Amino acid sequence: MSSTLPRHKTKIVCTIGPACRERAILQKMILAGMNVARLNFSHGDLADHEKDIRTIKDLADRLGKPVAILADLPGPKIRIGELLGGSCILDKGREVVLTARNITGTSSQIPVQFPGFIKSIAKGSRIFLNDGFIQLKVLDIQDKDVTCRIITPGQLLSNKGMNLPDARLTVNPVTKRDLEFVEFGLKTGVDMFGVSFAKGPEDIAQVKKYAGRSGKKAFVLAKIERKEALERIDDILGIADAIMIARGDLGVEIPIEKVPTVQKQLILKANRCAKPVITATQMLESMTGNSRPTRAEVTDVANAILDGTDAVMLSEETAIGSYPVDAVKMLAKIARVTENQRDSIVTGTSIPDALRRAVEQKGASTEDMISLNVVNSLNTLNIRCVLVPAITGATARRISRFKDKTWIFAFCSDGFARMTLSLSYGVYPVVMPPGSSQEQMISYLKKNGFVRSDDTLIMVRGLPIDNIGRENSLKIIKLD
Ligand code: PEP
Repeated sequence: MSSTLPRHKTKIVCTIGPACRERAILQKMILAGMNVARLNFSHGDLADHEKDIRTIKDLADRLGKPVAILADLPGPKIRIGELLGGSCILDKGREVVLTARNITGTSSQIPVQFPGFIKSIAKGSRIFLNDGFIQLKVLDIQDKDVTCRIITPGQLLSNKGMNLPDARLTVNPVTKRDLEFVEFGLKTGVDMFGVSFAKGPEDIAQVKKYAGRSGKKAFVLAKIERKEALERIDDILGIADAIMIARGDLGVEIPIEKVPTVQKQLILKANRCAKPVITATQMLESMTGNSRPTRAEVTDVANAILDGTDAVMLSEETAIGSYPVDAVKMLAKIARVTENQRDSIVTGTSIPDALRRAVEQKGASTEDMISLNVVNSLNTLNIRCVLVPAITGATARRISRFKDKTWIFAFCSDGFARMTLSLSYGVYPVVMPPGSSQEQMISYLKKNGFVRSDDTLIMVRGLPIDNIGRENSLKIIKLD
């Protein structure tokens, strides 16, 4: 176990791909601050994923830094097929045919891998390709062919995604293939699963139930990228263990100008429910090809942190970019500086007013009140750190949601709790046998130099202790 605390509390999720698969690069990314490695099951084969999981777990163990593995399930994402030479240019005003026929595409005919898309569209519908960079309008539909006008032109690469914002697709977000990936993931050491295009709580429940069949616990996060998911977000938050604001698809499924306010609302709602939230996609997009980001990207990352996100995510930047390690270092740097300045922006109290009101309005529970009181005490009493024994991690997450500057040490009863807390802001998860005493926890903190002899600490318990019922307590411990 490393005895130094990270210099930032925001968690960093990195997408693994050809640009960072090498052991030496992964090691640098972990040392730079990667907390969660995201394997995108839309790409790559199972042998590659298995090798990545083994390498990352081995490195994390050797370096003494927990790195959780997130398997991002593809869901029913509609993609185009192969294009001749790998790409084509779609010129403004020209016609192009999208076809369910099995052909190699060109700039006049493009194959679509999901034949059912034809049933979901009508004349006049909009079709977006490549995260909305290319826009088409449907002119005519004939059997297997859909003729479209190119409204927004651009270069298209093979296998890029397709969005139909005007259609209500009836396909189940959790496909048979997704469930096969869940089975594979549970066998190979995946810690979390991401459900793409979730429409409602039943999609999350389906993955949890499937994983439960093999007696395994599964931490399942909902990727919020559909209108339907926004309409049912409270129900989704009721069952999902975390959410990801998947801004790529979301920015196509809803008007792009709504993304910033929807992001703020989602973060507030997730914080209110004490569910970790990842802000994802295009955070440092220009670092895919450049060694430095744009001012706008840096501001976007900082704003997500100020909004209260738990984690920020890199996609192409680490998966296929030229500067994967620099991108992680840059996120870590922005996080550190922004977190240090948070107090100068959030005035009056360390709990943002909107979140305090949201937690209290919800009809605060005993556990909510304890977490509010912990955070209220931190600054007044000059507390060095918070100690939380963690079985599920829920108590640590309730405190973490207020994004205070004090570290939360979560003493986890197993590796599963430790991994899932890799996504929570300001939580430093440590495995310690269940039932460990206060003295053992403090001895760990002293041995690693995390506390000094005259420090004051807060210990929070929200656990059933020795089967004598639920204990909810906040204890202030003065070391001497
Ligand atoms: C997104 O759409 O923003 C996202 C994260 O999903 P994917 O990368 O799978 O398209």
